[in-house]
Amino acid sequence: MNRSGKFAVGVLCSAVLAACSLEPNQLQATAGTSTAHALAESAAARDNAPGLSEQYAKLRKQQIAQVDYKLSVTIAKTGEAFSGRVIADTQFRRNLLQPLTIDFAGGEVRGVQVDGKTVPFEYNGHFITISPEHLKGRKHAIAVDYTHAYSSNGSGLHRFQDPVDGEVYMYTDFEPYDANRLFPHFDQPNLKAHYTLDVTAPKDWSVITSVREKNVEQKGEVNHWVFPQSQKFSSYIFSLHAGPFHVWENDADGIPLRLFARKTLAEYVKPNDWFTFTKQSFEFFQKYFEVDYPFVKYDQVIVPDFNAGAMENVAAVTFSERYVSRGDKTQAERMRLANVIAHEMAHMWFGDLVTMNWWDDLWLNESFATYMANLALAENSEFDDVWENFYLGTKQWAYGEDQLPTTHAIQLPVQNTDEAFANFDGITYGKGGSILKQLPYYLGKEEFRKGVSNYLKDLSYKNSTLDDFMGHLGKAAGKDLDQWQQQWLYNAGLNTIAASFQCKDGKIASLTIKQSAPADYPVLREQRTQVGLYNMAGGKMVLSKAIPVTYAGASTEVAAAKGEACPQIVYPNEGDWAFAKVNLDKVSVDNMSKHINDIDKPFTRLMLWQSLFDSVSDAKLPLDEFVSFAINNAGVETDINVIRLVSRYLGTSYAFLDQFQMDDAKRTRLQLAIETFVWDQLQKAPAGSDAQKTWFSTFTGVAHTNKALTNARNLLRGELVIDGLKLDPDMRWSLITLQNQRLFGDYAQAIKTELAKDNSDRSQLNAIAAEAIRPQQEAKAKWLENLLEKRDNFKLAQLKYAADALFPTEQGSLYNANVERVIAALDDVNSSDASEFVGTYARLFPLNCSDKGVQQVSDILDSGKTLNPLLEKALKNRRFKNQSCLDMAEAINGNTAG
Ligand SMILES: [Zn+2]
Repeated sequence: MNRSGKFAVGVLCSAVLAACSLEPNQLQATAGTSTAHALAESAAARDNAPGLSEQYAKLRKQQIAQVDYKLSVTIAKTGEAFSGRVIADTQFRRNLLQPLTIDFAGGEVRGVQVDGKTVPFEYNGHFITISPEHLKGRKHAIAVDYTHAYSSNGSGLHRFQDPVDGEVYMYTDFEPYDANRLFPHFDQPNLKAHYTLDVTAPKDWSVITSVREKNVEQKGEVNHWVFPQSQKFSSYIFSLHAGPFHVWENDADGIPLRLFARKTLAEYVKPNDWFTFTKQSFEFFQKYFEVDYPFVKYDQVIVPDFNAGAMENVAAVTFSERYVSRGDKTQAERMRLANVIAHEMAHMWFGDLVTMNWWDDLWLNESFATYMANLALAENSEFDDVWENFYLGTKQWAYGEDQLPTTHAIQLPVQNTDEAFANFDGITYGKGGSILKQLPYYLGKEEFRKGVSNYLKDLSYKNSTLDDFMGHLGKAAGKDLDQWQQQWLYNAGLNTIAASFQCKDGKIASLTIKQSAPADYPVLREQRTQVGLYNMAGGKMVLSKAIPVTYAGASTEVAAAKGEACPQIVYPNEGDWAFAKVNLDKVSVDNMSKHINDIDKPFTRLMLWQSLFDSVSDAKLPLDEFVSFAINNAGVETDINVIRLVSRYLGTSYAFLDQFQMDDAKRTRLQLAIETFVWDQLQKAPAGSDAQKTWFSTFTGVAHTNKALTNARNLLRGELVIDGLKLDPDMRWSLITLQNQRLFGDYAQAIKTELAKDNSDRSQLNAIAAEAIRPQQEAKAKWLENLLEKRDNFKLAQLKYAADALFPTEQGSLYNANVERVIAALDDVNSSDASEFVGTYARLFPLNCSDKGVQQVSDILDSGKTLNPLLEKALKNRRFKNQSCLDMAEAINGNTAG
């Protein structure tokens, strides 16, 4: 079901067409004119359901030899729908025996013509069906006239109105299966096409797509934009963005660059950063791939209400406005921008020029772009801690998801587009990216690069599979990668490695790497990494030796370690080359706790702190011990990445403490200790530093006492100033949200005052969160009603802000009072065809650290209902995390030290 109100699907035949009379039984009768081929085809007859199955996509690939589209679209500033006409110049492989279906979700079909002649059709709200009797012969121009509602959920053609100046902006977002919400066509990646677009739009608008316009003709209040035929590519990366954007122009060694943003956001955009990062990435990729940028220009469009971070539409990439800060960015935030720019650009080659055949190879796209973006930054940017950030972000995401019950092999069957939607996750991006990082180390850097380059050259403008990719790498490196592929791509699960060593007379007598696997995924893998040996020297704990090692199987003897000075700390994944969880030996743990701040390499400290919190997550180390250790040791830390990691886990610890069943006095003491420490760090951090911003952000998550809330309110009012800390509008909103979360002071008035000053879209979204977070039944009831019953009145971005804010960890009793209502809406949400909302709904199952919390989710999962893949995955993970939380609570309660 389409959730855009009056244009809801279910429109069967258009009233315009009297000829629309083909009944399903007639369709079947037509199919019955049987040959062996027809029988094979009829086995794959299309379900009357949303989405596209792999089986059906295969059938259609057999039907269609080639297709190109001419598309005319009319968009306007007002109105709920746009209109269009598409002509699909289609060449069939043979005379059709089966009906032809054309994907088109949630629109209205005005008429269908084949070679200029009106023909009957059937439309079920998901796709149009034309009987083969109207498609005799091999080549046809199939024209469809249609209308479609603009979307408000960020998919298809999304319409946004700026509350500040009333201007309207539109953009498209399609992956994996929403291009058919812009125009009827064959929406599968292996039916690549040329697109010839023309657009009628308000006269002060820019219109952006994969090519630059040929001409723009003024026709009164509208302009008619005519574009030349594009290159050949898949429809999920086609695009149409429009609006009165502010534009900046530049040039990357002959490639014309443009950057677009809404007019009211333009003052906050830093075009110098955008263009510098863009040029550096182009410089790196063109050289690395040895393939010139394959398209004619490169536009980057910053758009509102965007669901993901960014999207690699051919030559017209879209970015979420979250990459624009209304204050000064930290270096980490600037690097995140550089990273996403490089990621989307890598897709121009990997994904856009060479495209996976079907969604089972989504990882080929995403893992590659993830790895390549980091490599580009490491090799050609101002940032010198790229791999530390990779470790902190991408790898932790991957490790986390690989230990969840929903982990999966990187390469996995994807039966339909709903399943594809569920796979944009930490395995596809993070683990895939991490093992690609391992590959050049394993195969040789230049061999890897050559293999990639040959792959791109050989398959330009075509589709590819995993075998194509591995084949090219293996050939370039002269290595058989079958075993590697089996271990890494076809099997899920995270291995743990641990070093064990003996010393004699101050020297290592033996050092072994032990590898283990989880019971559910008993695969041991082969990897190349380094073992780091650390010893105290001159008052510092320094890396005395890094020994390269390729380990395999359960036990690998590191012969080269023999005779080295007996180490105080052994880190078996020095430099973070391996994808494995590290279990430190006891000697190393003891020395680490004594010497964490003596370790001179920040990356090592980062990895050791992470190991420590891993032990908490695994319920091996009581959380209170971690909190004490952090408070006693993190105060002198100066490396920004370590500070980010420690402050993140102190915030996480605070939230877990809200949920644990435990002694209240102990909880109060620990939470107060965290609040005090974080506030102290905020005071002590150098003026204007990134550390100061980091501690501020954690402070707004852990402030709860009257004293801290008073400080927060005084900061907001400007009555308290921390030297160097400039509060940008978003930081102000985090203080206002905190006030509302604690019902502190003039919390309601604070929202009104801020909105009066700043009525921007972002401010309005923050105001929703600030209201929804209040610990009052009234606020919960109102926003649950909006989310579950009145969601057509809101855009998805608003619902997301509300859902995220609704039940913070300390509001468990309010959650329990409302959970039945959330569960009661499940059937309705589950049967909706808007996968985007399913993700938002899943956020209404927050951490619930109780037996009841585990049971509630189990009841849904065990009910035998067929759940949307995204929802099923979210609920399975929720059950697991609720259970882990219970285990962590047990660890803290078993600990008598506190
Ligand atoms: Zn990507």
